[in-house]
Amino acid sequence: MTNRFESLACANCGRAYPADTHSRCTSCGGILEGHYRLDGRFLDDFHRRSIWDFAEFFPPVKKENVISLGEGWTPYVEAPNFAKRVGLRHIWCKIEGCNPTGSFKDRAASLGLSLASEWRKKGVFTASDGNAAAAISAYSARARMKCLVLIAEDSPAQKLAQIMMYSPILLRVRGLYESVSSLESALEQTQAILPDWLNHFIWAPFNPLLVDPYKTLAYEIALSQKLPDCIFVPVAGGELLSGLYRGFQELREMGQVDRLPRLVAVQGEGADPTVQAIEKGLDQVMETGPPRTVAGALRVNFGAEHSITAVRKSDGFGISVSDEQIMKGQIEIAQDEGIFCEISSAVALAAISKAVDLGKIGGDETVAAILTGAGLKDYPVTADDISNIPLSENVSSLSTALERVLASELFGGAA
Ligand SMILES: [Zn+2]
Repeated sequence: MTNRFESLACANCGRAYPADTHSRCTSCGGILEGHYRLDGRFLDDFHRRSIWDFAEFFPPVKKENVISLGEGWTPYVEAPNFAKRVGLRHIWCKIEGCNPTGSFKDRAASLGLSLASEWRKKGVFTASDGNAAAAISAYSARARMKCLVLIAEDSPAQKLAQIMMYSPILLRVRGLYESVSSLESALEQTQAILPDWLNHFIWAPFNPLLVDPYKTLAYEIALSQKLPDCIFVPVAGGELLSGLYRGFQELREMGQVDRLPRLVAVQGEGADPTVQAIEKGLDQVMETGPPRTVAGALRVNFGAEHSITAVRKSDGFGISVSDEQIMKGQIEIAQDEGIFCEISSAVALAAISKAVDLGKIGGDETVAAILTGAGLKDYPVTADDISNIPLSENVSSLSTALERVLASELFGGAA
């Protein structure tokens, strides 16, 4: 199948832009979007190898420039025990932690580095101290391309460990994430010094084409199972939500599905500008004060209108959850289903429980959660927790210690 890409154009006024554009529309301020020809059948043939099964729905990249580590086609599994716990019949989990660097960002990094190769860039740069930085650093290594990552001055060691393994150039920047304009200024200054490097910041207002690889989640879900009624999506910048919406919309236009699942934007209380905008019926996301939530990957105080569009046009809603609910969700899905997702993914699970309690979804609805990253990325177990695990002082007294543990764990007796 030939490539379907037509143009990069403004979602508001339709003005066309070169594919390598890193801004909003200069005429009206709208967000730019990749437009694709949607004639003919959806896909005649696919191999379940990577997101590149869907290459015709990306901007054009020659085969020799594709940078892939087998990202995509992550498990989509039912969670019957967790469903029973929260009072639903069917919950499905899309386990994005199974991607090569452990998060959904690999989909965008694969396209980003492939475009950088296609466009003969000398390197890529971004600002992130989490999943995006790990993904972009890894795919840069794979592409043999230089990579610069701007990080916050106080990035936690636990998060930096994975990123540093791939050896990108790192620079700590105080106040990097203070506002959209500080971030924008940092990226602009970097681009001015490195004019032939690709800006790989994954956010539509700065980098419209990097939403497109997230359409593949919609394709994979639609090709795997009957469509869910409702999909709960963790939201920071909103790329995943917007990509899902556009993927399902393309599928509907091509006659592959007959409706859109309702898309639910989920954030942590204290870092929920997008949910607030949806609830207040605004057309723009307002910047808020310093964000606070246990969900580190979702600690943002800004957003953009493409998330609002995705929720509104799919008849979805927004929901925020507390730190306590998020931590509970992370433990429950591990205990119930053996799925260890990162804390920022657990917001989706916490939100499902809350939405059932609030009557926003019915018991007979089929619900899906996008679990964006692997649990080992960002976990709550501390050295204190480990010292609280019962200890047998030596091997010869193990049986006594074990009996005590079993009495307490299995029979609830005193230790
Ligand atoms: Zn425009």
